[in-house]
Amino acid sequence: MSLITNHMPTSELQALDAAHHLHPFTHGHDLAKKGARVITRAKGVTLTDSDGNEFLDAMAGLWCVNLGYGRHELAEAAARQMKELPYYNTFFQTTHVPAIALADRLAELTPYDLNNVFFASSGSEANDTNIRLVRTYWQEKGHPQKNIIITRKNAYHGSSMGSASLGGMAYMHAQGGMPIPDIHHIDQPHWWAEGGDMDPNEFGLQRARALEEAILELGEDRVGAFIGEPIQGAGGVIIPPETYWPEIQRICDKYNILLIADEVICGFGRTGKWFGSETMGIRPHIMTVAKGISSGYAPVGGSIVCDEVAEVLNNCEFSHGYTYSGHPVTCAVALENLRILDEEGIVEQAGSETAPYLKEKWESLADHPLVGEAKVIGLMGSIALTPDKASRAKFASVAGTVGLMCREHCFANSLIMRHVGDRMVISPPLIITKDEVDQLIVRASRALDLTHKQLIDEGMMKAAS
Ligand SMILES: *Cc1c(COP(=O)(O)O)cnc(C)c1O
Repeated sequence: MSLITNHMPTSELQALDAAHHLHPFTHGHDLAKKGARVITRAKGVTLTDSDGNEFLDAMAGLWCVNLGYGRHELAEAAARQMKELPYYNTFFQTTHVPAIALADRLAELTPYDLNNVFFASSGSEANDTNIRLVRTYWQEKGHPQKNIIITRKNAYHGSSMGSASLGGMAYMHAQGGMPIPDIHHIDQPHWWAEGGDMDPNEFGLQRARALEEAILELGEDRVGAFIGEPIQGAGGVIIPPETYWPEIQRICDKYNILLIADEVICGFGRTGKWFGSETMGIRPHIMTVAKGISSGYAPVGGSIVCDEVAEVLNNCEFSHGYTYSGHPVTCAVALENLRILDEEGIVEQAGSETAPYLKEKWESLADHPLVGEAKVIGLMGSIALTPDKASRAKFASVAGTVGLMCREHCFANSLIMRHVGDRMVISPPLIITKDEVDQLIVRASRALDLTHKQLIDEGMMKAAS
């Protein structure tokens, strides 16, 4: 199984890594103690580490490798572009062919009149752009006080100051002085954790109406936009009740509020259609894109805005931009990714063939004694771990303890599945085959069994009587 490798031994790599590399979302002490897993190669849905172990990557990296690993066409597109024009900027009235072509392609792929792209290199940057863009839009329209953006608790919109302020992660806000002013958080539509005895659809309406209440409380003349992920990703793959988005849309329309759909995860096939907005019936004024736009092969992101917003914005010079906005190499890679997704029918195949197959298999995990709910939409899914299904109880241990336990059992069984607190989430490459889905389910079931056994052994859960 282990191919010949010419790198230093894993333990040396880990020691160097711990000595000099500061990692995102990682506790430094854990890193020094255990060492990081060193991933060296990947193909299709399979990752290989520095010891030759193979893993089925049910997370597509960080929700981004929609096309799967190892597509050399993207490497060739990057090499071609690097030789021809490795860099030029798009500031001060200049442009280049890859940025033109990608903007044009995105205008074609996105629904409605989302025809105008402002490029960034990541989702975080794109959402920072959105904050300034929305506020500049209202300023240009003569309503500079309409600068509050309403968002949701447990949302994820990125890690920079602006985007993490839009996010609703309390543990992130606790570090570094967030949220920035004029960002307002309302409750999320997470029925399983917060719906109590309410009917899910009633609950969906109630949580959508929290937006209306916030607008009335803050003042219609103060609120400029609402932002939401069509389906919350990093918050735990939370699929809102079907009543939620239509009500949000009605409220945004009624109060003249811009609607921003953060499609960074949902976009480019993840939900079984090209965009989550199509799956959930949302008509946004602005879409945030990143991740799947290039399948993670190069850092690209952007804000795609509707014609009316672009028109107003074009009345001024928007004093905003990144050195790498519309970087030619990353645009060329994204174009090649979109070409393959389209020409090979990968989005359609994922939506019409793989998604229903995954749904049937994934939902069967709900029969496991540890699983409270198993939900999936397109190729993103989650399961809630619980000591008691009937009451949808939480574990007495600190949230995330049991999830982490399960994640470690997944690793030991050659599966990469992430935990968010005590929820397990998946988001595999769209090219995953039915056989690979079967493998995923077998390994996930085994990890659940082992977690269940460990919980009983350690007295954290009672065995069924
Ligand atoms: C990952 C993510 C972001 C941030 O994107 P980065 O490229 O990591 O900056 C923003 N929004 C959503 C919904 C995401 O999942």
